[in-house]
Amino acid sequence: MSPKEVPAFEVLKDESTLIRFSRDMSGYQVKPTCVAMPSIEAELYRLVEAAWRRGVVITTRGGGSNQSGSAVGKGLILGTRKLNAIISVSRDLARVQAGAWHGDLMRRVNELNSMIPYDPSSSLFCTIGGNVATNATGLRGVKYGSVDRWLNSVRLFNPRFGILDSRKELPDELTRGLMQLKDRFQEDGEIVAKFKARKGLKSSSGYNLSALLDYDDPGQILIHLMSGSVGTLGVLTEVELKLIPTPTERALFLILCRGLKEACHAVPDILRFRPSSLELMDSYGTAELAKAGWKMPDEARASLIVELDEDPVRMGKALGEQLANRVIKTTEIKRPERQSELWRMRGEMLLRIRRAYEDARHRFIPFADDLAVPVDQLEPFVDEILRLFEKEGLMVIIYGHVGEGNVHVRPLVPVEGWQERLRRLAKECFHITFSYGGSMTGEHGMGRNRAPFLIEEFGERTYQAFRELKDLFDPDDLLNRGTMLSAIDMTEGLSFEH
Ligand SMILES: Cc1cc2nc3c(=O)[nH]c(=O)nc-3n(C[C@H](O)[C@H](O)[C@H](O)COP(=O)(O)OP(=O)(O)OC[C@H]3O[C@@H](n4cnc5c(N)ncnc54)[C@H](O)[C@@H]3O)c2cc1C
Repeated sequence: MSPKEVPAFEVLKDESTLIRFSRDMSGYQVKPTCVAMPSIEAELYRLVEAAWRRGVVITTRGGGSNQSGSAVGKGLILGTRKLNAIISVSRDLARVQAGAWHGDLMRRVNELNSMIPYDPSSSLFCTIGGNVATNATGLRGVKYGSVDRWLNSVRLFNPRFGILDSRKELPDELTRGLMQLKDRFQEDGEIVAKFKARKGLKSSSGYNLSALLDYDDPGQILIHLMSGSVGTLGVLTEVELKLIPTPTERALFLILCRGLKEACHAVPDILRFRPSSLELMDSYGTAELAKAGWKMPDEARASLIVELDEDPVRMGKALGEQLANRVIKTTEIKRPERQSELWRMRGEMLLRIRRAYEDARHRFIPFADDLAVPVDQLEPFVDEILRLFEKEGLMVIIYGHVGEGNVHVRPLVPVEGWQERLRRLAKECFHITFSYGGSMTGEHGMGRNRAPFLIEEFGERTYQAFRELKDLFDPDDLLNRGTMLSAIDMTEGLSFEH
């Protein structure tokens, strides 16, 4: 179809649509001027070009499942949900349009006895484009990492450079710009040291400058720059993912501990068994298990879920021996229906706790929901975070992917005077995290609740490098403004009402 034959795009401006798309799953509320859901790619290009020419801010939106306020914005909301085709799937490669649902692709892939290696819990309501843009990972991240590791190619639209396909030659001007930045950053000792020190740290924060430091091929650079870029460099339209065979055997263990300290202390030892999953639930999560009928000794105040998918019988036995006398007990969950039940409980844990504790005057607001530190720092780090909230007199729940040093921290914040308190708590939580060499987002990605703190995580020099990269792709800051390089107060647009 030639551009002239592209049907006129529909741009929605009615109040109910604008209200609906003024929210994602973060608690932010930012009313857009209009919303469009193109159903063919050429229509998307024309929309983006038209908005760009008029100086309209463009916020791309997949499933809207992020918790950072990254899929809301003034101007145009560009929904990708109608561009959701699964183009091709083989046992080791899948090619999809960026609006394809992770859950739909997972079902297709599983039918071939393969798996998408990264597995967000939000699989049913997030898109592959959103996954790339946030550098998503999931319950098996401890072994299989984030989406970045599994990207084979990307195609995107950037209004300055047009259609960019990592498998094809990129426009000269872009290649030249990327190579100039690469040369400059490679010669900058501070930037090189910063990214070297972060190797192995789970992070979806800032731009992935490792792409420029580690790769020479412009296509590869483009692929890895897109991970975690939260729609600020271009609109992804197609993604090609590497797949792996589903492991033939898996074993699941529930490890009960006397508290968070004991659980965090056990993590480095468990990692020696190369687990495919290593999840933490604190006393509140563990209590939810008890409420659901799981037998618990009274002293159980934390639990770990461990999955092994390599030689699980032998490794499982050794794991039990290793942890004997160090935790309350390690139990293998053998029955498939109990295994599903345990994973379901882990998945529903936050929702159950919210139902039990939230009321009109208290809310679990996501802002420190995705802190990550090097695993060997986990124990003192969690201790310090707990002390912070104890001092504040606030209930806090801590859970998540401890095998990667990534914890979801959710305090129950009183509505009264929340803005001032949130600002201060976010600052303190992030400050503690950075002091342990950590990142304010391990997997959920950048957004309005983190952008003002990015400079503290990376320092001024690297922040300036981020700006230069952004200027190359989007000099007028029209792509997803406010979510990456922004000093706008984190409470602006945030609302307590559900
Ligand atoms: C209950 C729950 C559980 C979750 N569990 C996990 C988890 O286990 N692991 C995890 O990593 N995250 C998790 N998340 C967070 C969220 O689901 C992920 O960040 C997900 O990758 C977002 O995908 P999405 O399609 O919903 O993107 P959106 O929320 O729509 O957008 C997120 C960002 O991506 C950008 N974006 C979306 N599509 C494109 C595109 N085509 N091109 C360019 N930019 C684009 C948007 O502009 C925005 O900046 C969870 C969220 C919830 C609510």
